[in-house]
Amino acid sequence: MLLTNIIIIFIFGTIIGSFLNVFVIRYNTGVSFVTGRSRCLSCSKDLHWYELLPLFSFLMLRGKCLKCKSKISYQYPIVEGLTGIIFTGIFLTFGLIPILPLYLIVASLLIAMSVYDFKHKIIPDGMVYTFVAMSFIVMCLTHPLGQLFSLPLSLDLLAGPILFAFFAFFWLVSGGKWMGFGDAKLALGVGFLLGFSGGTFAIMLAFWVGAIFSLIIIFLQKIKISNLKLSLKSEIPFAPFIIFGIFIQLLTSLSFQSLINFIK
Ligand SMILES: [Zn+2]
Repeated sequence: MLLTNIIIIFIFGTIIGSFLNVFVIRYNTGVSFVTGRSRCLSCSKDLHWYELLPLFSFLMLRGKCLKCKSKISYQYPIVEGLTGIIFTGIFLTFGLIPILPLYLIVASLLIAMSVYDFKHKIIPDGMVYTFVAMSFIVMCLTHPLGQLFSLPLSLDLLAGPILFAFFAFFWLVSGGKWMGFGDAKLALGVGFLLGFSGGTFAIMLAFWVGAIFSLIIIFLQKIKISNLKLSLKSEIPFAPFIIFGIFIQLLTSLSFQSLINFIK
C-alpha cells in the first residue's frame, strides 16, 4: 500500500515538474502556461501527448525532437525527476497530513524559483512573494492559535524577520555585491516556513555548499578544464543554494539545535 502511494506521488511529482518547466519558460513572456499546445522550441512542431510524458518521453526520444532531431534541454527530465523525488520525500516525511498540499505547493514554487534563477540570475518578485505568503500560512497553521497572539512571541515566529534582517544587512553594507535583495526576501519565507532553528540550519548549509561549489569552480578555472566564464561575485546565483538548504531541512528535520547537540 505504501509502495503504491509512493509510486503515485512520484508520478504526480513528475507531472507537476513538467508543468513547472513550461511555467518557468513562459513566465513573464505573456504566453499563457495553462492554454496553448506545447511545441518544439527549435522547429515549432506541435508535440503529441506521447512526446509530453514526464521523464518517459525524454528517454524514449533519447533527448531529441522527433521531427527536427534538435536536442531537448536536460532541464526537462532533471526538473521532472527532481520534483518527483522531492514530492515523494515530503510525503514520506510528513505523511498524509491536511497541509501536505501546502507543502507541495511551496516545494513547486521553490523548484520554479531555482530554475528561473539559474536561467535568468534573478528571482521574480511574483514567485518569491507567493512563497513568503504560503510560508506564512504554513507557520500559522502549524502553531497553536494562542501562541500566535501571545507575547513575547516565540523565536520561531520571529525567525522570518530575523533572517530577513541578516540578509538585508549584508545586502546594505556590500551595496548588493555579496547578497541580492531577492535573497533577503527569500530568507523571510525560510524563517516563516522552517522556524528559527530549522531556518538557521538551512541558511548555514546554503553558505557551506555555496562556498564549496564556488571553490570547485575556481579550481576548475585555475586548471583550465572549465570554460565556464563565471565571475564569482556576481554570477553564481545564491538562491538555489538557499532552496537546496530548505529542502534538506524539510526532508531531514535537521536543525541548528540538532547540530549543537551533535557537537556536545
Ligand atoms: Zn523540433
